[in-house]
Amino acid sequence: MPDTLPRHFDLWESSLNWQPTEAQQALFQRLYEQILVGNQQLNLTRITQPDDFWEKHLWDSLSGVAPWLGDVSEHDDPLRIVDIGTGGGFPGVPAAIALSPDNLAKTPVELTLVDSTRKKTQFLQTLCESLGLPAICLSTRAEKMGQDRFYRGHYDLALIRAVGSAATCAEYVMPLLKVGGQAVLYRGQWSTDETESLMPIIDLLGGELTDLQDWKTPITEGSRHCLFIHKEYPTPNDFPRAVGVPGKSPLT
Ligand code: SAH
Repeated sequence: MPDTLPRHFDLWESSLNWQPTEAQQALFQRLYEQILVGNQQLNLTRITQPDDFWEKHLWDSLSGVAPWLGDVSEHDDPLRIVDIGTGGGFPGVPAAIALSPDNLAKTPVELTLVDSTRKKTQFLQTLCESLGLPAICLSTRAEKMGQDRFYRGHYDLALIRAVGSAATCAEYVMPLLKVGGQAVLYRGQWSTDETESLMPIIDLLGGELTDLQDWKTPITEGSRHCLFIHKEYPTPNDFPRAVGVPGKSPLT
């Protein structure tokens, strides 16, 4: 018997002012079970205990989309979300589940999951199909995607967690956003010095830092930060630079 995920409705409510529906809770449970199965073949995550999974994958993923919880279905056009370096589907999959209150098939979200490891995106394709979550799973590099006319400037919301330094992550996601779109950089510890040095980079890429959320995870009180970057004008064509460069020589 697989472990059962905790519900922690009180913690959802007190931290994010939100609670999953029964259907969403069931999807979180199925996601958890399938990640555990996938983990036997692929190195998806080391976070496998139920409470840990709840806090460090589900809660953490949703903390970055807290501003959108509750109001997405009011939009006529689907919210186009891209998750770069998604690994086992985080934060994109829990975010899409949470932003689809009634029926995944009519989801107000258009989700694209991107990872350079083909085995992971193949796993995610099967996972999303079995959850009934329409998703596009792409095995490519963020640097290539950002220079592809089809994807550049295409997204409303770009999520990125645990893929590299903040400067690298910003260079990966900003080109993919529409003007008016928003990027969420998920960080752990974060300092005002880091904000200072990131500011000119965000500016160079066409963005503006609009919010910096300082979280404590609700069970173990780990430090988390979410940087919200609004795209103000098109990213110069020089970015993202060639494959490997944003990681090896982050913008300064
Ligand atoms: N976002 C997930 C996984 C983080 S591990 C989580 O938070 O749990 C980082 C993932 O990013 C790996 O799966 C790796 O294959 C992918 N990755 C690293 N650089 C990338 C790039 N330039 N383009 C696309 N994927 C990348």
